[in-house]
Amino acid sequence: MNPAELCNRLDDALPQTQCTKCGYPDCRSYATAMADENALPNRCPPGGAQGIVRLRAILEAAGRIYPDDLKLDPDCGLERPRPIAVIDPKTCIGCTLCIQACPVDAIVGASKQLHVVLTEWCTGCDLCIPPCPVDCITMENVTDDRTGWDAWSPEEAHLSKSRYHAREERLEREERDNHLRLSKKAEQKLHELDSSPDNAAASIEQQQEIERKRAIIAAAIARAKASASKESAS
Ligand code: SF4
Ligand code: SF4
Ligand code: SF4
Repeated sequence: MNPAELCNRLDDALPQTQCTKCGYPDCRSYATAMADENALPNRCPPGGAQGIVRLRAILEAAGRIYPDDLKLDPDCGLERPRPIAVIDPKTCIGCTLCIQACPVDAIVGASKQLHVVLTEWCTGCDLCIPPCPVDCITMENVTDDRTGWDAWSPEEAHLSKSRYHAREERLEREERDNHLRLSKKAEQKLHELDSSPDNAAASIEQQQEIERKRAIIAAAIARAKASASKESAS
């Protein structure tokens, strides 16, 4: 099995909550670290004990060897029933910080308005809890005493992965649009500078100042365009 194939198989075996509890920024990064022999297959609390069995089976088929008693690393968190986030409508101040933190866009709301969790998309990753300035988000158990993969399904993992990728694409698109907007604004400034009726009568010092501003604006335009084209290529 080549490294890319191994990484894909490991990624497919992960719960895709994108919770970062493994110590990596997303499930794919953890899969890459395991494929590269930089991480053990015992760092994913949402997958729990059953997740370790699945990951090590893939890795052992690729020739890796692990101790028989490999347990979930407690530094990453505990295996637990799956919760979903619930926002207290009486306390929420509509600051939008939870939306920015949610890796699967499972929270809706606008600035200064009540925010709501879309329960069918919430993975229980906990990432919206720390940024809330008024502590109005609680996690509520929705799987009784079922934990790990007994409380999660491949279909839910697939949905979470596609929502995570859709969110990444949205963020890239918004950043690219922002760069293009700034570039257009700078171009307009450059045009105003070049077409000012005062230019003809400008002193040498004033012309030098105009040149200085022109160089700054041109550099800003070049930077914004480079960022926008880099994002559209990635
Ligand atoms: S579900 Fe969380 S802990 Fe498990 S691999 Fe994905 S990001 Fe890491
Ligand atoms: S609503 Fe909170 S707990 Fe649910 S997926 Fe989003 S960040 Fe995670
Ligand atoms: S972070 Fe807390 S206060 Fe801010 S919008 Fe989300 S739930 Fe409301």
